[in-house]
Amino acid sequence: MNSPFVKNIPLLDVNRGNAPLREEFIEALTRVVDSGRFLFGPDVQQLERSVAERCGVEHAIACASGSDALLLALLALDIGDYDEVIVPSFTFFATASAVTRVGATPVFVDIEPATFNLDPACVKAAITPRTKAIIPVHLFGQCADMSSIMSLGLEHNIPVIEDAAQAIDAKHGGAAAGSMGAIGCFSFYPTKNLGGMGDGGLLTTNDPKLAERLRLFAAHGMNPRYHHKVIGINSRLDTLQAAVLNVKLKHLQEWSAARTTNALRYHEGLAANHDLGLPIALQGNEHVWNQYTVRVPNGQRNAVKQRLTEAGVGCEIYYPIPLHQQECYRSLGYRTGSLPETERAAAEVLSLPIFPELTAEEQYVVIERLEEALAPRRAAAA
Ligand SMILES: *Cc1c(COP(=O)(O)O)cnc(C)c1O
Repeated sequence: MNSPFVKNIPLLDVNRGNAPLREEFIEALTRVVDSGRFLFGPDVQQLERSVAERCGVEHAIACASGSDALLLALLALDIGDYDEVIVPSFTFFATASAVTRVGATPVFVDIEPATFNLDPACVKAAITPRTKAIIPVHLFGQCADMSSIMSLGLEHNIPVIEDAAQAIDAKHGGAAAGSMGAIGCFSFYPTKNLGGMGDGGLLTTNDPKLAERLRLFAAHGMNPRYHHKVIGINSRLDTLQAAVLNVKLKHLQEWSAARTTNALRYHEGLAANHDLGLPIALQGNEHVWNQYTVRVPNGQRNAVKQRLTEAGVGCEIYYPIPLHQQECYRSLGYRTGSLPETERAAAEVLSLPIFPELTAEEQYVVIERLEEALAPRRAAAA
């Protein structure tokens, strides 16, 4: 094997990103400890203002997680029993579970193979009189085809909720992820591009009435104190998390740029390899590369993943089982083959390390070891 001096390369190394900011974190956290304002402290408001400004929206509402953000969006839009919500099946579970949790039915539709995002033609075909929302997911850091999806929403008077958990700072036609639909949902889970030291989430909207409802539902539906207007939940962002996120937010732009540089390096290094499908950023999209996800066709993906792991390269399958094929959704009655592009993606995808601090040298090693994993006999014979 070449490059014996580079050892294991992790899929993600949060410590490399956090270590240089250690002193700043301690200062910010100490301020919160001393203030005693562990909830609704000034850091929470500062984070809300900063994210609203970055996204170009009027309102941002912090909450406890990205999953809660999705749930709150559906509650605020009054979606519940007998309603249908169109979602991709090729996404993280929370996109659909929030729909089921409010009593509505997720309607799973297929994706565009080039971007892994909702196919607008499939969305259109799935609209019924019961459709009460569409939730496009900006998967892996690239916006879904929001121009087409927003037109469908407008035409049929259906609100669009953006699942922007993986796509903070991504753009579509110049508009930021989370600023195009009625509501945008973000996550600060540690693996996201803006990751906290625990759970966190945030909602964006331009509609002042929706903003008020989102805050109401996140606070037990209570306003004023001990007067409950609706059945809400308890979903708050800790001031400690907000303090950490405010420190990190200042670096988000440079981190996204580093991810883009890394993506270009993989493109160049892997372009000649015809055993692989490479991810692309569509024209008009600013991709923020939460994941760099290749396709390994011909049933070879699991073997390649195993060899790459054994060679010390962290890699992961996002996502191995589409949601329409999950045990908990069996009762919805989707058959194998009903969402062919989703099922093919689940069988082919493999995400490689792309975190901002990954070095060029490490990437060359990833490329080399991936090529060996793709053609082990060829490499052994050489
Ligand atoms: C991470 C993620 C969520 C959930 O966010 P949490 O903060 O982990 O609850 C929802 N949707 C997508 C697409 C995600 O990647």
